[in-house]
Amino acid sequence: MASQSADRYAVVGHPISHSRSPWIHHEFAKATGQTIEYGRVDVAVADFSRFVGDFFREGGRGLNVTLPHKEAAAAFVDTLTPRAAAAGAANTLWQQSDGVLVGDNTDGVGLLTDLMKNHGVSLANRHILLIGAGGAARGCIAPLLDQQPISLTIANRTADRAHSLAALFAGKGPVRARSLSDLGGTVFDIVINATSASLSGETPALAPQVIHRDTVGYDLAYGKGDTAFTIFCKVHGAKAAYTGLGMLVEQAAEAFYLWRGVKPPTEAVLRELQAMIRAI
Ligand code: NAP
Repeated sequence: MASQSADRYAVVGHPISHSRSPWIHHEFAKATGQTIEYGRVDVAVADFSRFVGDFFREGGRGLNVTLPHKEAAAAFVDTLTPRAAAAGAANTLWQQSDGVLVGDNTDGVGLLTDLMKNHGVSLANRHILLIGAGGAARGCIAPLLDQQPISLTIANRTADRAHSLAALFAGKGPVRARSLSDLGGTVFDIVINATSASLSGETPALAPQVIHRDTVGYDLAYGKGDTAFTIFCKVHGAKAAYTGLGMLVEQAAEAFYLWRGVKPPTEAVLRELQAMIRAI
């Protein structure tokens, strides 16, 4: 059990009861010999700014921020790291010793670490399709472009939102927008689902022809096992398809590193989390 003087952290969202972050961070703390207290706080949109201000005034050391507050967090902090500014959203907050409240975004690095390190997928010189144009998609664009793909195509149900995102990142690499129905005969090496469709058991209206036998599919969403999207990829002949559980653990590891200055091991935590979720 955490002692009275343990450094205090929390994840804040609405709803939040489903969040695995307290378990993950306590596992990281155990593995690295750190003593922390990490809670889960349900805060309504109208109360978010007041909650964050109070949390840090009362000595809180760091917050993870999840739906629907990531954009509000970016607007509230005193300063954003470049990757949080590019994402327009913050999921990790802390206060510097001079009192400045910093917002960072670890979602992109979480995705890349899971794809590249855990699954051995190379993104350089690949054609990547990113489906979705919400907060998570936006946070992944700059990190994906940093890996120097041949092309990054953003496709979204509401095509205008994909065009706006592509315009926003046009200076950073070979990014373009297409509507979901306009992908025609184009095939992609990596297809990333950054929509929330899987949460309701749906798949984006995607032509199966975008997938070939060397395609790797990745769904940011996760569940007990395969999601509707990873099943779609496998059924249509993809080489592999992964869910976002590894991204969840890796983005948390990056937040832990930012707060504690030590990178926690993730492999055993991911394995145990998978087993826990399957057992529910
Ligand atoms: P969001 O801002 O609400 O955006 C939702 C996106 O999904 C929009 O592009 C929306 O399209 C699209 N969409 C929703 N239902 C759809 C459907 N039935 N068919 C096609 N497109 C659909 O959500 P977000 O914050 O970006 O999160 C997206 C997903 O990423 C969620 O599943 C979330 O759990 C996951 N995520 C995972 C991690 C992780 O660590 N693994 C981290 C962050 C997010 P329109 O624009 O047309 O509405």
